Amino acid sequence: MPGTLSSSGGRPRSAELFARASTLMPGGVNSPVRAFGSVGGDPVFMASGRGPYLTDVDGNHYVDLVCSWGPMILGHAHPGVIEAVQAAASRGTSFGTVTEGEAVLAAEIIDRTPAERVRLVNSGTEATMTAIRLARGHTGRRLVVKFAGCYHGHVDALLAAAGSGVATFGLPDSPGVTGAAAAETVVLPYNDQEAVRQAFAERGQEIACVITEACPANMGIVPPAAGFNELLAALCGEYGALLIMDEVLTGFRVTRSGWYGHEGIAGDLMTFGKVMGGGLPAAAFGGRAEIMDRLAPSGPVYQAGTLSGNPLATAAGTATLRACTPEVYARVDEAAATVAKLASDALATAGVPFRLQQAGSLFSFFLGVGGPVRDFGAARSQSTAAYAAFFHAMLDGGVYLPPSGYEAWFLSAAHDDEALGQIADALPAAAAAAAAVLEN
Ligand SMILES: *Cc1c(COP(=O)(O)O)cnc(C)c1O
Repeated sequence: MPGTLSSSGGRPRSAELFARASTLMPGGVNSPVRAFGSVGGDPVFMASGRGPYLTDVDGNHYVDLVCSWGPMILGHAHPGVIEAVQAAASRGTSFGTVTEGEAVLAAEIIDRTPAERVRLVNSGTEATMTAIRLARGHTGRRLVVKFAGCYHGHVDALLAAAGSGVATFGLPDSPGVTGAAAAETVVLPYNDQEAVRQAFAERGQEIACVITEACPANMGIVPPAAGFNELLAALCGEYGALLIMDEVLTGFRVTRSGWYGHEGIAGDLMTFGKVMGGGLPAAAFGGRAEIMDRLAPSGPVYQAGTLSGNPLATAAGTATLRACTPEVYARVDEAAATVAKLASDALATAGVPFRLQQAGSLFSFFLGVGGPVRDFGAARSQSTAAYAAFFHAMLDGGVYLPPSGYEAWFLSAAHDDEALGQIADALPAAAAAAAAVLEN
């Protein structure tokens, strides 16, 4: 927002709204990562967004590095997406019937990914939950293998050692998840090939599926080591288990398909969300036709949704994917590389030890960490206090970062030189604030 960068006016209206929200909703929020649990202070109530900027209810402007946790790859209020949603809304918001827009979005996903059939759902959680049901239905087996630090939504069976939101709040597991659900989940350390081989050697005939983030981004960025995803695919093939590649975060963001575009390893099933909804609630899972066709009504595995494939959501998703040209991906990559470099330089200048990890246009910083982060244990050695100081200094400098050190920083194609310049201006004070914490 040219010339008007400032969040120094304070946030009295946000504070007021948060006090009220806290009496109405648990913790004042509808998703825990929106609270400032690990950085302290009151969350900022946003009123509007345009391009790379957010404006809060007090009139302060911020360069947005959260992008709704990934979906807003084109920036906020992209004219083509808004027009598509408005046109769809003017025709009616939901019919509970089949609509043409569903097939258009499904075709767009199938064109970009190895999926032969997809089903549209409303959230990433719903996608992973159903993919697991389908894997169990297809194989007739019970066990699910997941990796510590990988987040797949708040599915009961997957809440064991689940990364960011859970890590932020220090909950090892969630009350309400039964022992039986947890007992059917085998949690292994990420990037540990030997642990995976051993699990298959011991219980391979009971394993319905292995679910993994195609490139983990919910414990900070922890890319798969060379050969890791390949090993998962090979072992699943050998033992008749299904590999579920969770691309809810990476899909259509890191390449036109997702992490698959970097590594070329297809899951038997894949899950998508975030970017494919263009900021509206839409997600999907897909895979080989013979597996997908076991879903109702063509097969016996049940799944349904009153608002699945909603006309507004499919319009936003299709408009977003169609606008994601090679130039858009090139711009996002370039903006991400620039911000990663600017932040690295500022942290180094301030004498903050840190580890930067990158995977395509996704990156995150582990403050106070020296060596490579290959798993959740290493991710947890970061200084959350240093990140909190860094976060608040950036916020005061007009940059909205993820309110947790366990999250990726997200860029959009709308992050232009002016927005990047504002980030550059805010960084030295933030790096100094982090340094001051680590020196104490
Ligand atoms: C965000 C996310 C989910 C959950 O999606 P929701 O739409 O929040 O339910 C699942 N898996 C991964 C990898 C995610 O990043």
